Amino acid sequence: MKPINKQTALVVFSGGQDSTTCLFWAKKHFQKVVAITFVYGQKHFQEVSVAEQIAKGAEVEWHKMDVSFIGMLGRNSLTDQTLIMDENKPIDGPPNTFVPGRNLFFLSIAAVFAREHGISHLVTGVSETDFSGYPDCRDAFIKSLNVTLNLGMDEQFVIHTPLMWIDKAQTWALSDELGVFDLVREHTLTCYNGIQGDGCGHCPACKLRQEGLKKYLKIRNKIS
Ligand code: ZN
Repeated sequence: MKPINKQTALVVFSGGQDSTTCLFWAKKHFQKVVAITFVYGQKHFQEVSVAEQIAKGAEVEWHKMDVSFIGMLGRNSLTDQTLIMDENKPIDGPPNTFVPGRNLFFLSIAAVFAREHGISHLVTGVSETDFSGYPDCRDAFIKSLNVTLNLGMDEQFVIHTPLMWIDKAQTWALSDELGVFDLVREHTLTCYNGIQGDGCGHCPACKLRQEGLKKYLKIRNKIS
């Protein structure tokens, strides 16, 4: 990839494995990186402080934005304490961990924020390779929204999705290439049960993360 220097990028940043890898990817490719973390009514509020710590440790300007209305609009098990989390993907649609509109709102708000700060590059850690069944993680959605945002604000935003076509094992490999494998493994919070690092081990987010890690560690051990 060609270096995209002398520019600023705004990273949509949750403090999980994917967005943390994207944060360091952005630090490699852009002159300045700004991170924005959304409070959307998630049950595990420590996600926000984890994001803040990682961003500060990475010496990245960090902003927090409260969009709690998203969790109240569409019923899902990440914001609703009374709903039991789907541990497997149902046949007839996305699992109840899907927060309807989340990436639509996040990226739209991020774009308005970026515009106010003279930033045209947005970075998000969505991927359709290890697809959890979330329609707003797909490439077609991101491309379509990119066009919509540009038309809606008469801007030339570019939404970067460095993880779109790579799987979880390759995402671990990318963090290793970026020199942050241990940081990602120990400090990020991906677990839907709110446990930092290797997590609870049985929620869908942990399963995906651990399968990828196992696969990558096998490859890594062979090479070294
Ligand atoms: Zn978990």
